[in-house]
Amino acid sequence: MRPGDDAAPAAEDTGAVPDLPHESPEPVTPAPALVCSARGCRAAAAWGLRWNNPSLHQPERRKTWLACDEHRERLSSHLAVRRFLREVVPVDELTSGRE
Ligand SMILES: [Zn+2]
Repeated sequence: MRPGDDAAPAAEDTGAVPDLPHESPEPVTPAPALVCSARGCRAAAAWGLRWNNPSLHQPERRKTWLACDEHRERLSSHLAVRRFLREVVPVDELTSGRE
């Protein structure tokens, strides 16, 4: 096999490029709605999953994933299995009770 044979451009398939639309009807969205953190999901988030990885974070630190109704269970179980999940709160509580 010659080196050039499989050197086709693969930039589209590296996963490094965000899946951004090429054109947007609204050029600027100053305060985008909270969107589900699940990969490829663009649904509005309904839940905040508050979690902490003790091996990476201070105990009082909280990371937050956002989840729509559809992905709440999947994302929370992903965290719960690792014992990272601390609490699940409605997304309203995240925005109103922001630290
Ligand atoms: Zn989702």
